[in-house]
Amino acid sequence: MNKTTASITSAKKPISLNDLCFDNRFVRELPGDPETENFCRQVEGAYYSFVKPAVTVNPSLVAYSSSVASLFDLSDDSGKSEQFVRVFSGNELLPSMQPFSMCYGGHQFGNWAGQLGDGRAINLGEVINQHGERWYLQLKGAGITPYSRNADGLAVLRSSVREFLCSEAMHYLGVPTTRALSLTLTGDTVVRDMFYDGNAKPELGAVVCRVAPSFTRFGNFQLPASRGDIDLVKKLVDYTITTDFSDSFPGIVEPTKDNILQWYQEVSERTLEMVLHWMRVGFVHGVMNTDNMSILGLTIDYGPYGWLENYDPTWTPNTTDASNRRYRFEHQPQIAHWNLLQLANTILPLVDDENSDEGRKVLEATLNQFAENYQARHLVMQLEKLGLKPLAEEQAILEEKQSDAVLIKDLLTLLQSVETDMTLFYRCLAEVDVMSSRGLTSGSYESILADIYYQPDQITEEYSLQLHQWLERYAKRCESEGLTNIERKQIMNAINPLYVLRNYLSQTAIDKAENGDFSGVEELMEVLKTPYTEQEGKSHLAEKRPEWARHRAGCSMLSCSS
Ligand code: AMP
Ligand code: MG
Repeated sequence: MNKTTASITSAKKPISLNDLCFDNRFVRELPGDPETENFCRQVEGAYYSFVKPAVTVNPSLVAYSSSVASLFDLSDDSGKSEQFVRVFSGNELLPSMQPFSMCYGGHQFGNWAGQLGDGRAINLGEVINQHGERWYLQLKGAGITPYSRNADGLAVLRSSVREFLCSEAMHYLGVPTTRALSLTLTGDTVVRDMFYDGNAKPELGAVVCRVAPSFTRFGNFQLPASRGDIDLVKKLVDYTITTDFSDSFPGIVEPTKDNILQWYQEVSERTLEMVLHWMRVGFVHGVMNTDNMSILGLTIDYGPYGWLENYDPTWTPNTTDASNRRYRFEHQPQIAHWNLLQLANTILPLVDDENSDEGRKVLEATLNQFAENYQARHLVMQLEKLGLKPLAEEQAILEEKQSDAVLIKDLLTLLQSVETDMTLFYRCLAEVDVMSSRGLTSGSYESILADIYYQPDQITEEYSLQLHQWLERYAKRCESEGLTNIERKQIMNAINPLYVLRNYLSQTAIDKAENGDFSGVEELMEVLKTPYTEQEGKSHLAEKRPEWARHRAGCSMLSCSS
């Protein structure tokens, strides 16, 4: 092989904004809305409407992710330029951008809501990097679109900080997610009634530029299906299989029924993977409506999300969902399954016909498989959090049947019986000496676990006994792994993060940012880049929630107002 050519093709040369290469395939290949005026309407027969971002009074940069910029080769200099701020606040369009908003519907809190669409998201275009990878650039909060219904198309600083930080934090945790390139202030104010209690007040307007290989949602397919426009559904299914899923379907130009069924299986697997990660790191999405489900299995639409602090599987941060708790932590896998069922119903007409119900059966089997796979993978994930590998089947039968499942179940019960910080529990457990020849003594773990409880006075003798017994079982189970304490700790710390975007940490950074001090955002962004590694001088970002934050808005509960 010619050495020079090899090095030229693999090196990525940083480029400037004006050199970005756009190829707007979505709008080129899919039907669009012929109406180009920007007013609210029902849009039929189309997947998008062209719309321009609003001009703002005085845009300025709050935060920027150079790692996201590098996804599409943008140089660091360009990322710090004035033009960058203008472009990513919606005030300047680059020549090949074709801004548009997407048309979709969705089930909200279990009910069909009809047309929703990008009410405040505007795609600038699809940029192709020097390796031929494609990234959509999308502004959130850049003004009204045909899908804004009766809202203003804008976003405020607090929700934009939350979206920006969490997208990046999730990425570095290894959770599939949309990314965030930039966070800008618009210079305009936006009026919001944060608690929906009649106390509206002006807040700082902001725009986040989100980046993803695709922003297609389950709801994009659902809307035309709900209107009986199966041809339109087929167009997007074919488009998605041949573009977003081209790696899995190389060379396919016209997907067959079998391809569609295989594609659905892949969507189901990706969705499972995403939710499993959420459960691993203690993330609660908060609004798992079908319009917030990415077809690529990416975490999308960071609204009233939250992180479990004390391990409470019934917790949801979303005040709008406080009574039903449909989207509570423990319910997320079932909701993912329910959402996949809605997607299956949407594509059923494409895979079924009068003479055969083979297609329906495959869809049903995929859904059943989701449930089975989830259970099995959840157990493996929980074991991995403990530094354990699943027992081989024969061994599992020899050891009491299902003993690992019981070990996990008992642990999760224990974590709930006294308010215990989930994140700290796993990090501290990694420190406990489970190999001592003297056996497990309370002295060997009490001080290590001392700081993980929110209400230490809840600790009873019975709890202490149960904890001790559980740790003894755990220590015994660890024997079968043949690991030293140090090895086990390394394995556990690679899967259990030390730093997560605790609700009160975001709120503290937001409080500062609202006063013009962005250092809190920057500090979190930096630390959350290596969430599994202890960082010097950053222990204050790994602490459990302080008591003042227990009931403070933004720290424990969030409304959808953003
Ligand atoms: P979400 O709960 O963020 O997924 O939003 C549900 C729907 O409401 C989507 O169609 C959003 O685009 C739309 N939406 C939310 N906030 C606004 C806003 N401030 N202006 C216009 N549309 C909005
Ligand atoms: Mg949404």
